[in-house]
Amino acid sequence: MEATQSSTMVEEDTRSTPGPDVPIVDYLVLGEDPHLRSWKCTACGALYFDRRNACAKCFGGDFTRTRLASEGTVRAYTVVHRAARSIPTPYTSCVVDLDGEGVVKAGLVGITDTGSITPGLRVRMVTFEAGRDDNDTKAIAFGYTIDEETA
Ligand SMILES: [Zn+2]
Repeated sequence: MEATQSSTMVEEDTRSTPGPDVPIVDYLVLGEDPHLRSWKCTACGALYFDRRNACAKCFGGDFTRTRLASEGTVRAYTVVHRAARSIPTPYTSCVVDLDGEGVVKAGLVGITDTGSITPGLRVRMVTFEAGRDDNDTKAIAFGYTIDEETA
């Protein structure tokens, strides 16, 4: 049997077509309503961003996915002045107690004035472009900004 090849096959130029946006971490869900999700132990309710074989609190082995709130309050923060060369400084890193359940560490986007940050500050999750590859595919990261509606 003789193999045939199509002479009309055109090699697609993937560089001219931007790929879909890619979340920088797999617990960031993109789309029209970006949000974080975590694994939740069905036995004790412990939350984990990474997949676990067993719960660190109760050794349970069953987990479900759960959506986390996009709003929360700042528990603690620090302004970072030194980082790897590719990371602009200063930036503010914070710990956010999410409404309902869950705690996340992330950046306070565009806020380095410590006078505007207080523990208990209401914040809302935002996404932003963290970088692009050679195919123009965007890496999307998340952070928090002051929630003007509830601040
Ligand atoms: Zn558990």
